[in-house]
Amino acid sequence: MDLSAILPIPDLMKAKRLLAFSPHPDDNEVGAGGTIARLINEGCEVIYVVATVGQAGTEETGDASKELGNLRKQEQEQALKILGGGEVIFWPYPDTMLRVHESALQTDVLRVIREYRPDFVMAPDPWLPYEAHPDHRVLGHAVATGVIMAPFSLAFQQAGTPISSPNIAFYGSAWPNTYIDVSGTFDRKLAALEAHKSQFAPPGGPQLMMYLTLHAQEYGKKIGVEKAEPFKVMTHHHLHFNAYAWQS
Ligand SMILES: [Zn+2]
Repeated sequence: MDLSAILPIPDLMKAKRLLAFSPHPDDNEVGAGGTIARLINEGCEVIYVVATVGQAGTEETGDASKELGNLRKQEQEQALKILGGGEVIFWPYPDTMLRVHESALQTDVLRVIREYRPDFVMAPDPWLPYEAHPDHRVLGHAVATGVIMAPFSLAFQQAGTPISSPNIAFYGSAWPNTYIDVSGTFDRKLAALEAHKSQFAPPGGPQLMMYLTLHAQEYGKKIGVEKAEPFKVMTHHHLHFNAYAWQS
């Protein structure tokens, strides 16, 4: 069944206001940096919502977490500046522990969606097979739930005034249905990743960038361009009781 005939996939590049949810500083750049730079170039207002400051993103021992969290906030702000600039909202949830706070997180996600009234939201795909990081699964699910609950006045009443559901673009999806040409902005994606110095020092950083570049070239072939980023784009209709959504 070709669901797209009756339920078209929205055009991500038509977004006017994007709320880009990130479990940790750097996820938005890894998954969507080239697309975010293009959207900003084309006049879209981009607001980042970073659920944790990534204070556990080190293999060192000791009590360096507060310092690392502050450093990663600065790195995140610098990275978005490189992509074109925008507001960054940091939430103080503890890194790696979003699932312990799932209920409060869900309310916060809905509140920020209703407050900013985006036409698109972005998040990591929580249905990625083998995704082992709980923060990515929990935040992705919370954003998807926020999309379907946004218009219901009796749901999450403590989370603001209901709005029409925004569309959603998942990055890091195993079943992408949209490829965005990022040939012109891929250099800025890499520069934004380099701004996350605490995470992407050699040798891991350059290896990741090589990996992302090779994949962008592969995705680019699908639409006949040099480099592309993949997304699973959906409406709220896809996100509830829809057996065909995963393959649409
Ligand atoms: Zn992450």
